Amino acid sequence: MHDQTLGAGGYSIFHDTMADMTYQELAQEAAEGAIVLWGLGVIEQHGPHLPLGTDVYMPQALLRRVRQLLKARNIRSVTMPPYYWGINNVTGLFPGSFEVRPAIMVEIMIDLIKSLRKDGFGKLFCVSGHGDPLHNQTILQGARRGAEESGLDTYFIGAPSFVKRLGFDPADPNVLQTASEVEKQRKYMDIHAGEFETSSMRSVYPELVRTGIMASLKSTDFTFEDLTEWRRGREHALRKTPLGYLGDPAASDPEKGGSMIDLQAELVADAIAAKLAQ
Ligand SMILES: [Zn+2]
Repeated sequence: MHDQTLGAGGYSIFHDTMADMTYQELAQEAAEGAIVLWGLGVIEQHGPHLPLGTDVYMPQALLRRVRQLLKARNIRSVTMPPYYWGINNVTGLFPGSFEVRPAIMVEIMIDLIKSLRKDGFGKLFCVSGHGDPLHNQTILQGARRGAEESGLDTYFIGAPSFVKRLGFDPADPNVLQTASEVEKQRKYMDIHAGEFETSSMRSVYPELVRTGIMASLKSTDFTFEDLTEWRRGREHALRKTPLGYLGDPAASDPEKGGSMIDLQAELVADAIAAKLAQ
């Protein structure tokens, strides 16, 4: 059963992160060998029914669950405040999609990773809340350079199909692939603000979903060829999805969304525990 408390008290994106700790509490965690978790998303249009911060809310909800699972295994962790100024190569032309240049994002990541090292932390695990390839390639680059320049072990955690689509090498020392993944079978593509993402948001932050509008949205019924065209980005994405979503939001189900988060959190916690045991 999905833990309904993930959203409770957690409207603030700082909930359960180091931002709500004091410096002494944080230093104590570093001294006790806590690992650091970090969700990296974007502020991006998510159709007429989901908020711009969807890709920030979701990794934060996931990491709250991951922390619970790690704690049950006696693995201490702290969570970074979420990163949310990222790269929106695909939906960049929509209102509400903010963009920073990849080189800037890499430099910010390096500086933040150095700060963690200065505080005595030794391991950082990053999860992405956003599918744009360039965003994720930038995270990996930031993780790699941050690790090189600070000496802090930094990992990008991804599901096998995600790692493959991004062109990452699973043997890359900065890539941590989960053992398996949450199966998402649908007849048509469901990629952005569709059934899956809407289900997850409804499970954790139902009050942020415009369910009346959601129910009126027709499935986009995209084939893989349509998706490839959409992924060319910008004007192509605007033309292919004028309302901004790609999938079937009206088919969403909060119960299913909660189960998907729980399962994904287990896979992430397993991958972290396995890495720490090496
Ligand atoms: Zn999203």
